[in-house]
Amino acid sequence: QVIISPSMTLSNLATQMDINMNTLLYALRDIESNNKLDQESFVSAETAEILAHEFNCLPTYPQKEAKFPLRPPVVTIMGHVDHGKTTLLDSFRNSNICASEYGGITQSIGAFSMKTSSGGIITFIDTPGHKAFTNMRARGAEITDIVILVVCATEGVQPTTLESIRHAREADVPVIVALNKIDLPNADANRVELQLLDAGVELEKFGGEVMSIQISAKKRMNLDQLEEAILFKSELMDLRADKTGFARGTIIESKIIEGRGSLCSLLVQKGTLKPGDNLVSGNVYGKIRFILNEFGEQLKEALPSQAVEVTGLNDMPDSGNDLIIVSSPAKAKAIADRRKNEKEREEAEKKEKEVKIVLPKLSYQERRGLRTQKTNMIVERLKDELEQVKAGAELNAFRDLKKIKDKLGKGMSFEENLEKIQEMFSDKEEKSINVFLKAQNFGMLEALEDSVNILGREKNVPIRIIQSEVGAITSQEIEFAKEQKGVILCMDLRIPRNVMAKAQKLGVAIKSHKIIYHLLADVNNLILDFTEPLY
Ligand code: GDP
Repeated sequence: QVIISPSMTLSNLATQMDINMNTLLYALRDIESNNKLDQESFVSAETAEILAHEFNCLPTYPQKEAKFPLRPPVVTIMGHVDHGKTTLLDSFRNSNICASEYGGITQSIGAFSMKTSSGGIITFIDTPGHKAFTNMRARGAEITDIVILVVCATEGVQPTTLESIRHAREADVPVIVALNKIDLPNADANRVELQLLDAGVELEKFGGEVMSIQISAKKRMNLDQLEEAILFKSELMDLRADKTGFARGTIIESKIIEGRGSLCSLLVQKGTLKPGDNLVSGNVYGKIRFILNEFGEQLKEALPSQAVEVTGLNDMPDSGNDLIIVSSPAKAKAIADRRKNEKEREEAEKKEKEVKIVLPKLSYQERRGLRTQKTNMIVERLKDELEQVKAGAELNAFRDLKKIKDKLGKGMSFEENLEKIQEMFSDKEEKSINVFLKAQNFGMLEALEDSVNILGREKNVPIRIIQSEVGAITSQEIEFAKEQKGVILCMDLRIPRNVMAKAQKLGVAIKSHKIIYHLLADVNNLILDFTEPLY
């Protein structure tokens, strides 16, 4: 949590968010054009709030909260399949159409707001209940205020009913039970209520706080009672939001409509959303062109708890992502770009890690694929290196190639030099480089084995893999390596101290690295040492 005040300094903000000043200044550089900021500079509430979001902190304005106006409840309907969720939503939606002065057709925008007969407003989230919970937890901000748990009065509590109860409890969202299909002759509300009690739902009837309404979604029985229960609960919850200032909210759904670009439904949770606003959500941004309600009518603004559809974004933002409005298009782009870069970096990092962890679990076929990919990369790299020799470029990175280059005649043509390189390697055929391969698991071992073989082939040097095994190096292996005049190549393994001591004593080289390229660089050096004495 970060408490935002109108006059706060950067150092105050950094302390509250528990981050390093430089990190904060770095992030700020993308958002503010003023380069002369330091820790004593003041930040605007808007910037502070954006930064809080960037660093996963929850911005709050405690001193004002109580005076904010009431806002409508946001409701999600959950329950077991076939218990009547869709029918209930449809009934609400249809009564909504009648209530609308336009009497239009609602479009599915993932949410809709309805006016009850008593004049209250309720916003229903119209995506499958579980998705609403799993996807829509944007940085701890739940979008649902109340869950309507639909339970069929003939079938009673079912697995998904229990799951829904658990979801609601975990999210700390209150439940109202709708006992559905009471129009059916075999409906047994009492039995189902006892089942619910068993499942830990403390119904009012049994002294608890959970309201339970008997309805028929299909025959539209007691729906007004359910509406009133929702409004009553929401009053108790005292749901309020500041409707001044830039909007904050959550993305519900988005899609691309041919010819219209991206269309995105969202829930406003705070502030007022207006056409022309510069929106950012994740790494998607844009100037809002139109704000539409579920009837497709253009709106001049959208207030807290209102679900609307907007156009004008450059792409489809992810469901459940939060959205912010900033003061200029440039700022919106800068924030989105920054997040995009961050995301790409994270994904690249994750990918790197994944290859390592996933390798042993892959099928043989998949492993082959990965290995081919890896070895192809190495081959490509080696080709590159040769090209550089060809171009006579300065080579700093690879000792071996530098050495080769030093050996090459300055006045000779590339072809002549290439011949010389080949000579260097081919004269050594009767001998070989003897290696022992060790790795933590078979996946790594195979990758290493392949790469070493390819390197040997590419450089035309006989590399003999004497032994290739998984697991820590043993002292027997050191002795064997000594006997065979071999080098031990060890990938991502800890070397026991006594083994290391023995290797040092016997003069056996152990090359140990976490990354295959580093190990292969060592192999390159071995190749070079192997060809060296010729000249
Ligand atoms: P969902 O899977 O939870 O969305 O369930 P549906 O809304 O699709 O309803 C499943 C079936 O139950 C449909 O055939 C509905 O017509 C029927 N149904 C829903 N509500 C009622 C009700 O109140 N009474 C009766 N008799 N049938 C209902």
